[in-house]
Amino acid sequence: MQRQRTIVLLLGAPGAGKGTQARFIGGLLGIPHVASGDLLREHRRAGTALGRAAQEYMDRGDLVPDTLVIDMIAERLEREDATRGALLDGFPRTVAQAEALEVRLADRGDTVGAVLYLEVPRTALVERLAGRWMCGACQATYHERFNPPTADNICNICEEPLYQRPDDRREVVENRVEVYLRETLPVVEHYKSRGVLHALDGDRSIDAVRTRLCHALGGTVHGQRRPRWHLFVRHTEPGDDGAASQALGRTLCGKFVGRRPAGDFGAVEDFEANPCRHCWHALHARHPFRLVVLEQSDAVAS
Ligand code: AMP
Repeated sequence: MQRQRTIVLLLGAPGAGKGTQARFIGGLLGIPHVASGDLLREHRRAGTALGRAAQEYMDRGDLVPDTLVIDMIAERLEREDATRGALLDGFPRTVAQAEALEVRLADRGDTVGAVLYLEVPRTALVERLAGRWMCGACQATYHERFNPPTADNICNICEEPLYQRPDDRREVVENRVEVYLRETLPVVEHYKSRGVLHALDGDRSIDAVRTRLCHALGGTVHGQRRPRWHLFVRHTEPGDDGAASQALGRTLCGKFVGRRPAGDFGAVEDFEANPCRHCWHALHARHPFRLVVLEQSDAVAS
């Protein structure tokens, strides 16, 4: 029997912060981040028939026809790296897409495990998008006011020049938000009525939204009870040559593990000095590494 896949949806208007959070959640769950907008842009760059068909819709900020997008996502979910599941970002955007997704998933015995919805007021969306700049190489995003790069127009991570997406121009942005409100809010209602929707206030800091996403994911994927993941910790482990090798490990918040960290998980004081930033309970490391640095933003699959 095939193992059921973890299918998580990230819904939210353009500019709600889906891309920023998706990298983190994908890493947390160990599944690829599949963004329909990124796939369409790849098709455009490669000059495929789909890319050419999508071009005029995208440039206007309108939705690409359902049939094209549904086939594209179905094909993407067949790829090797999606055997454990996928985090879908920007899809579904219409109720027809949501229904088609459910049919395609049901063919394999899969269902949508959780739907995360980032709510952001309309004025904030326009402001965020119209000031957004991206790295063409690693897709990191910046904002000219809220999150500027260290050097003007240069990516902090890979030092490549930044660019503004053509559909992030203010006149197109207004239309994208409009289209979203008309077409995608019914998708939110669709999942609400199925009881799988987690609506979160996306008009907060990146860290605050991230914490709430972790909280929402705890216990919801596949409908099974899962420990809540609150933080990530960077550990070091002595290598054969005695030098410390770096490893990243997932930590569980002690509140949900229900017991104190054992001695071989590092000094108890380490954990007490670094409580979970969400609920301020002590942390519990999953692996017997020595805890050295606490980093809320480092996300990896264990
Ligand atoms: P995004 O990067 O998600 O903001 O998407 C950029 C553009 O790609 C959108 O404005 C649409 O034109 C198109 N697009 C992305 N995802 C979808 C989808 N699920 N359905 C229809 N069009 C889409």
